[in-house]
Amino acid sequence: MKSPLLPVDLLSIYKNKLGDALPLPARMARCTPDTHTALFGIAREVARKGGQLVLSDLFRSYDMQAQSHQDYVAKRKKAYSPAPGGSFHEAGRAFDIDLSKIKMPLAAFWTIAAKYGVSPIIAQPKVSQSEAWHFDCRGSHQIVYRYYADGKGKNFKPYEAAAASGILSIGVHVDAFGHHQKQAAIQSGLIRLGKVIGNIDGQIGKNTHRALDELGVPFHMDDMDAMLLAVENKVQQQFVNEFRMPVA
Ligand SMILES: [Zn+2]
Repeated sequence: MKSPLLPVDLLSIYKNKLGDALPLPARMARCTPDTHTALFGIAREVARKGGQLVLSDLFRSYDMQAQSHQDYVAKRKKAYSPAPGGSFHEAGRAFDIDLSKIKMPLAAFWTIAAKYGVSPIIAQPKVSQSEAWHFDCRGSHQIVYRYYADGKGKNFKPYEAAAASGILSIGVHVDAFGHHQKQAAIQSGLIRLGKVIGNIDGQIGKNTHRALDELGVPFHMDDMDAMLLAVENKVQQQFVNEFRMPVA
């Protein structure tokens, strides 16, 4: 199966007319199971230290990301926002927080986040820096990041490749792959399963073919759905926590 998205009920910066904090709007309040586990683990630890994990953003659909990018391009929004296909928000794997509510130094928050596999996207814990509020739970897509950082894939920057991989894994369209979404999703799965197949580009070549053979996935170019499902199922067996529904 594809990576599922689960509803999340956490406080957000949104308020009602009386000024009471509200949960994130439902269209944004969705994330992968491992991100869900991480969010609640982090929220618990921050609360124990007297702070609050308050979200300003989580999931973005293709259209929401496109709007966010346009707002950035038109300078209606200051913070950088990539075009659709390049953000972990679209994979249900990134969240933005209200830094004024954590009531601890950013470095201390980073330490807590790291315990749950959550990483910042700035290099130094400086609150004043743009995107200091943004965190990723990359899960197995970190393997894609490493793969590209090690030069095994060359057609994307490591972060873009990992984000695209995350987006494909929930079944959302990534423009870069045109009519080859399923092929690219197969390649993303193979890399996360440790195979070296060159670029994620939607072009099924001999490396992809060999990797599928090694995994015992029957090769049928005319049945991409069956091949993708077989790869997805192997990914699910390998990364159980990205598919498992959390226990309440
Ligand atoms: Zn963000």
